[in-house]
Amino acid sequence: MKTITKHYIDGAFVESHGREVMDIVRPTDGQVIGRLTLGDEEDTRRAIAAAGRAFATYGQSTKEERAEFLRRLHKAALARADDLTAAMVEEYGGVVRFSRLIVESGIGAFAAAEKALQEMEWTRSWDKTTVTLEPVGVVGLITAWNANTLFICLKLASAVAAGCTVVVKPSELSAIQTQVLIEALHEAKLPKGLFNAVMGLGNTVGAELVRNPDVNKISFTGSVGIGESIMRDGAATMKRVTLELGGKSPTILLDDADLAQAIPSALIMAFLNSGQACAAGTRLLVPRKRLAHVKRAIADAMHAFTVGNPADPKIAVGPMVSQKQYERVQSYIRKGIEEGAEVLVGGEGRPEGLKAGYFVKPTVFVNVTNDMTIAREEIFGPVLSVIAYDSEDEAISIANDSKYGLHAAVLGTDIQCARRVASQLRAGRVVINGMTDDPQAPWGGFKYSGVGREYGRYGIQRSEPLSGVACAQGARARVR
Ligand code: NAD
Repeated sequence: MKTITKHYIDGAFVESHGREVMDIVRPTDGQVIGRLTLGDEEDTRRAIAAAGRAFATYGQSTKEERAEFLRRLHKAALARADDLTAAMVEEYGGVVRFSRLIVESGIGAFAAAEKALQEMEWTRSWDKTTVTLEPVGVVGLITAWNANTLFICLKLASAVAAGCTVVVKPSELSAIQTQVLIEALHEAKLPKGLFNAVMGLGNTVGAELVRNPDVNKISFTGSVGIGESIMRDGAATMKRVTLELGGKSPTILLDDADLAQAIPSALIMAFLNSGQACAAGTRLLVPRKRLAHVKRAIADAMHAFTVGNPADPKIAVGPMVSQKQYERVQSYIRKGIEEGAEVLVGGEGRPEGLKAGYFVKPTVFVNVTNDMTIAREEIFGPVLSVIAYDSEDEAISIANDSKYGLHAAVLGTDIQCARRVASQLRAGRVVINGMTDDPQAPWGGFKYSGVGREYGRYGIQRSEPLSGVACAQGARARVR
């Protein structure tokens, strides 16, 4: 049983002022594996004050100092990569092969930010004018539960590179993972108060960060509803915001796609992180004339998507994070059936032999139309909707007919054609023939998928011409 009673404030682990205690539940069997003492508004204010004091000095830091801190953070996190992966598997139920990649991606964000920091143009001059990029101040980082190490490292790396100080509010469902990460990052020996973390609920710790006038910016990863409230409530203190929100990402399978490659690739994108991924390709658009072949290819390829113990490297889909998430996914599967979609694979209930824990059946619906609830709303579970189209133009139109615009994929043999289709999709990132991880490429959404961009220089700079890639910088113009 793990007991977490401390926050990380001003460079030290300090006892929580908040006294409320929450159980930490293991999603594979529903057992209580730990207890977290939740922070309150007072803990949050203490952390904000520490970040404010640290900013007085760190806000003046040089590029070399920031690069050195990023190198130290990278080394410190790398030393605990195995522990971070193990914590993600146990507390969140992430399958081990994916959890490792997520952890590595998070650790890699420190190296990527250092590279971007070195390459960025921090000062521009012309005539009598000099413009410098300036740190925005104290940043509140509020994160979701589905890739805890990645979100915290990514946001922290951008902030450190920009010269900002931070208060992290991780998801209350990620306490053990955050504890391991904080212990790791403590070894980087950053200046006191540069990095603080308060474990607690959104409506106390998160709300205080959003409301507090001494926090200059919020960088948030989570749901649209909370994103809206952060934007609205943050306006009272003129907060800058970066919002990384939900998605209902389309995968367009083109006429010339080779099904032997395209179908496994489409399913990997659909069931990524057990379907609990903002970027999951949950709408598969296929040419109507190839539908029968596609159905057969999906049914065959589904054998690879085994469900079970996430610690087993052969397993592809783990449990949902919580009972609430399990019920949410079940309700969407029920809704799909009620609205007339046909279950090709999976369906309601638990998979064979998995009676405990929050396991669901990876499910593929066919005969889906884009106006059905399962095609419009983010389910955040392993549920794929196959939608037929008659022409390339119709495929593009269906893909863009969504309130979201986070991610999209195109699968096809003729790369010029795939690029032409990709260029017409309204999504923050579009991939061709499978997902790639480029830590310098921007990440973020159009429409309800959010505001701003993360990763590399896009996460560091605030630059209006780049469609508001806000993370942590303001620009200051000095005219002689
Ligand atoms: P959530 O919005 O419920 O919670 C996210 C965070 O916000 C948590 O730390 C939570 O405690 C906090 N929070 C809750 N209420 C708050 C309030 N009133 N004020 C401030 N903070 C508050 O989201 P979730 O269930 O943790 O995560 C799932 C969602 O995150 C999905 O919609 C998913 O698409 C999205 N997501 C987006 C990305 C991306 O990069 N775009 C990545 C991962 C997840």
